[in-house]
Amino acid sequence: MTHAIDVRDLHKHFGNNEVLKGIDFTVEPGQVVCVIGPSGSGKSTLLRCVNLLETPTRGRVFVEGVEITDPDVDIDAVRRRIGMVFQQFNLFPHMSALQNVMIAQQRVLKRGRKEAEVVARENLEKVGVGAKCDARPAQLSGGQQQRVAIARALAMNPDLMLFDEPTSALDPELVGDVLTVMRKLAEEGMTMLVVTHEMGFARDVADRVVFMDGGVIVEDGPPSQVIGDPQHERTRAFLRRVL
Ligand code: ADP
Ligand code: MG
Repeated sequence: MTHAIDVRDLHKHFGNNEVLKGIDFTVEPGQVVCVIGPSGSGKSTLLRCVNLLETPTRGRVFVEGVEITDPDVDIDAVRRRIGMVFQQFNLFPHMSALQNVMIAQQRVLKRGRKEAEVVARENLEKVGVGAKCDARPAQLSGGQQQRVAIARALAMNPDLMLFDEPTSALDPELVGDVLTVMRKLAEEGMTMLVVTHEMGFARDVADRVVFMDGGVIVEDGPPSQVIGDPQHERTRAFLRRVL
């Protein structure tokens, strides 16, 4: 079976700073993998290497069997299959929620306005903000904005979704609504790679949890092991701080 994501001996330097020091892991189709670890450990850089927002210094990355680190790859074609959700929602402030979810469908997938609107409404409905189609981002709560951003990614019919701390910018009372949407996606079988500090989500939803520290993977296993019974002192020390 082809891995959804296959990362082999991935290294990334920024100048003299080696941020990723040989990362190996895979995500299978339909799996949810949560990446946890201290700030600065390289989690975002790893995620960004999976859609080539960062160019790896060394190593190979495959997405659905296509080597994206091959210089001849059509990266735009690969990126169309990958949805990405960031900590900051990056919505267009001058556009309504509906327009935000339509624009990439029209520009990138060349869908007509009618079809893009139907798909946008479906997805806004799905994430629970169907009543907010005409609102601009400033008129929405952070949790609603993040759900619009998720709807925008889903409207492109991605095969897999990357989330980089999707709830870290939210007021605590808004985190649950976003996690509920992510849980639903996981239950529907979406392949998801999620950087998060939400240990409850990781424990309940993830098939595997990857603990990173200092640019390496320290532990990789089911949540019952990595969170419930960590084998390494570094993992235990991190979990003591966040649990
Ligand atoms: P995390 O997401 O785990 O907090 P990051 O991947 O964002 O960690 O960052 C890991 C390290 O890489 C940090 O030391 C950070 O300063 C550095 N870094 C990240 N992006 C860049 C960049 N574009 N240029 C230089 N250094 C970077
Ligand atoms: Mg980060």
